[in-house]
Amino acid sequence: EARFNIPHITDVFPDAVPYPSTFCLKMRTPVSQDFAEGYPSDEKWHGYISKNDRVLLKVIRYSSPTSAGAECIDPDCTWVEQWVHRAGPREKIYFKPEEVKAAIVTCGGLCPGLNDVIRQIVITLEIYGVKKIVGIPFGYRGFSDESLAEMPLSRKVVQNIHLSGGSLLGVSRGGPSVSEIVDSMEERGINMLFVLGGNGTHAGANAIHEECHKRRLKVAVVGVPKTIDNDILLMDKTFGFDTAVEEAQRAINSAYIEAHSAYHGIGIVKLMGRSSGYIAMQASLASGQIDICLIPEVPFNLHGPHGVLSHLKYLLETKGSAVVCVAEGAGQDFLEKINATDASGNIILGDIGVHVQQETKKYFKGVGFPADVKYIDPTYMIRACRANASDGILCTVLGQNAVHGAFAGYSGITVGICNTHYVYFPIPEVIALPKIREKDCQLQKDSGSLCKFREKDCHYSSSPPIFEVYSIHSASSALTCEQ
Ligand code: ATP
Ligand code: MG
Repeated sequence: EARFNIPHITDVFPDAVPYPSTFCLKMRTPVSQDFAEGYPSDEKWHGYISKNDRVLLKVIRYSSPTSAGAECIDPDCTWVEQWVHRAGPREKIYFKPEEVKAAIVTCGGLCPGLNDVIRQIVITLEIYGVKKIVGIPFGYRGFSDESLAEMPLSRKVVQNIHLSGGSLLGVSRGGPSVSEIVDSMEERGINMLFVLGGNGTHAGANAIHEECHKRRLKVAVVGVPKTIDNDILLMDKTFGFDTAVEEAQRAINSAYIEAHSAYHGIGIVKLMGRSSGYIAMQASLASGQIDICLIPEVPFNLHGPHGVLSHLKYLLETKGSAVVCVAEGAGQDFLEKINATDASGNIILGDIGVHVQQETKKYFKGVGFPADVKYIDPTYMIRACRANASDGILCTVLGQNAVHGAFAGYSGITVGICNTHYVYFPIPEVIALPKIREKDCQLQKDSGSLCKFREKDCHYSSSPPIFEVYSIHSASSALTCEQ
């Protein structure tokens, strides 16, 4: 049995009769020169994904059969396997393509790969035979703002949009209530909605799915998780993350050159990561040029004998220069609470990058030790990039599977890659909390589970593969990378 039941159109329409999915036959595109274009080929499917096809999410070992509870399959067993639904085309589809009006909306902030996903959704819908495809401009706002007309989409329109970053449709935060959105969808006759966004957007998508369910509307709402921070639970990786890590190298390299070329130079680079430091840590690992990496999961001190600043002084004395990478959500305790939220209700974080820069300058002035501090915040340059090759592939497969999921009749789901397989998750399971490196491990330890499939993450802070990551001193836990 799958760990999660995912909502299906037959929950509301038990008598719904599936249509034979003849269009999917064309979807079996071999890996050929035509693959990138998504042109249908004459090749036939070798088979569809059965609705019973499952992907192993993880194996949990509980400390005793009692703590495993109802999930335990035999009285002596302390092992529980969790499975999820495999993504892909189904033999039976629950929408007649000629009756579909599909809409795509992108919300939240920018992330490399949005255009790739939009493009692939449109192309796959066309392959299924859908004629009515529209883009909702500027996020959920586009559902209520009458000055914003929906944008007709076709292969012709989207053919080259992946060559640039951003979103063809535009993005926004805030916007109308869920019932206004569903009213608007009813008015427009939208019965497939593809939602590209982060946690907030997915909370919205799930609420839209529930409202449609309540109104007994035959609508499929399918999400594609967009978070450059890579902080969506249960997924190996989200699109845009790889590109962000790669692009961050340029900022880190510039900071390194600046620091290295100055007398007692210190380079500080701020990278994205509100709750989790994946971008900062991976970019630091990849660059080989970072001395100190500060992430939200690990508390640290700036001041004091075991703080970051005295360690920076030690680095200047011993190496002559130093480079610091700080994730935007790190060290928030040092900053005055702004007590402000953005249009979507997210707490506005204090600027830790500027804070570290100012404190560093003050500290070295105070101790009478010359230091030349340079600060780089490449956030908006990175977010606006076009997706790299690896994200381009991820976006392509996610976009295709989003459409397969909708045609299969699933709603309130999102697509993701899990243990290297593409799967469908029910939205609430992946937005319960942000995926955090430390917490991920801690949660698993608390539940007595084995970190079988998250081994890399779990062991990371104690024995990373490439270089040593350790606390500066036992009292302080800023991560320092010696390479
Ligand atoms: P990012 O990772 O860029 O922050 P996000 O999807 O989390 O992406 P938000 O600005 O938080 O971005 O939310 C995007 C949209 O989702 C906004 O239009 C917001 O109004 C809506 N939204 C956020 N939270 C909810 C919620 N709990 N219920 C319904 N809608 C929501
Ligand atoms: Mg968010």
